[in-house]
Amino acid sequence: MSPAHPTSYWQDLDKAHHLHPFTDFQQYRKTGGRIFNKAEHIYIYDTDGNEILDGMSGLWCCNLGYSQPEITNAISEQLQQLPFYNNFFNCSNQPAVELANALVDVTPKQFNQVFFTNSGSEANDTNIKLVHRYYDLIGKPEKKLFISRNNAYHGSTVAAGSLGGMSGMHKQYTGLNYVHHIQQPHWFAEGAGQDKESFGLQAARELERKIDELGEENVAAFIAEPVQGAGGVIVPPASYWPEIQRICRERDILLISDEVICGFGRTGNWFGCETFGFEPDLMTFAKAVTNGFQPLGGVMVGNKVADVLTAGGGEFAHGLTYSGHPAACAAGIATLKVLRDNQIIETAAQDVMPYFQAQLQTLVDHPIVGEVRGQGMFAALELVKDKSSHERLAPDSAGAIHCRDKAIQNGLMVRAVGDAIVTAPPIICNRRDVDTLIDRLSRALDTTA
Ligand code: PLP
Repeated sequence: MSPAHPTSYWQDLDKAHHLHPFTDFQQYRKTGGRIFNKAEHIYIYDTDGNEILDGMSGLWCCNLGYSQPEITNAISEQLQQLPFYNNFFNCSNQPAVELANALVDVTPKQFNQVFFTNSGSEANDTNIKLVHRYYDLIGKPEKKLFISRNNAYHGSTVAAGSLGGMSGMHKQYTGLNYVHHIQQPHWFAEGAGQDKESFGLQAARELERKIDELGEENVAAFIAEPVQGAGGVIVPPASYWPEIQRICRERDILLISDEVICGFGRTGNWFGCETFGFEPDLMTFAKAVTNGFQPLGGVMVGNKVADVLTAGGGEFAHGLTYSGHPAACAAGIATLKVLRDNQIIETAAQDVMPYFQAQLQTLVDHPIVGEVRGQGMFAALELVKDKSSHERLAPDSAGAIHCRDKAIQNGLMVRAVGDAIVTAPPIICNRRDVDTLIDRLSRALDTTA
């Protein structure tokens, strides 16, 4: 990093050589972007020195904000001690062993085994292989189909992208033919006029209908996020998850909870499945497990599947060079320690999370806000032109994009998802931080209207 250079220097270099994820390359060549070079507490700073409250926790991952010396020190000490060793071929490294044990301690009781990856996408790819192997080992090799939901995000590798239900992504490659999608439980977009809980039941029963269509003997698993995050913080009606759990149990379908965003406190409990009261057979995690300071993901494998895999014999032919990287695992161990020692999730769930949700609800009276929905420390505001008809503010997400840009100009990082503004600030925010966020967001709404 060289502060001697002006912002335009970095922008020109960036435009010349850097292809960004989920970005229109042609447009970026023209506009360039905002370049960050410093972060502290819940604030990020760009190369012009602008201070921006990070209402997105990075990319839903820095749940503890940016100033966490226990985590950064653990990473640098680990890099001095053992910068790398892999976990292949009957070897292990000490931080991976320690983190696996720490994860078993904080995850629901059915989880006693973990498979490490570097990302959420790779973890979801791993889920497919684990599940297929499980059914092969129990003599049901025809059970190979996965069911997921429209507008879900499970990552962007070919397999994880196929599990996801983002139409824009599917247009650019051929999804795996053994993945099928059902309705999302998005009441505002798809259930208007209906009672919320009846809509939740109806959306869950789409799973049953799909199982019947595909044949129970062919369906392996259903995967979903407790709250769809990247899809627009879609909080399901209370009726939804118990019904999904019932269907999976009765129809002998494995249930996978993708906790990449919901995990490690975002919904007010350690994991989203705890908030919504269901018991998954497998659980995907990533992001906040290291507070975003190192790339790490993985799958918690429940006893039902793990017992078969570990008794079955034969190699599980899958793994990544950096599965259980020592520096990433050191970050994970330190993150869990900070969360546990300071009771951060429990305290936030009692104080700042209800305050955050209550303050956001005050924005529902704003003329362009059609709905405010949220859970724990994330939320979405649907922007509308007409509150009763839900008519969108502008075509092609233009209203939300405009509002997001205004928020950033006002010193608040949020995201535009469809016609919604999404925010997921660090869970270590205090009430004053929330007031600052709400103030900057309402100013953005005022100048968008
Ligand atoms: N699953 C969910 C629910 C996610 O939100 C994401 C990323 O946002 C992923 C999986 C993919 O994780 P990664 O970007 O680490 O591959």
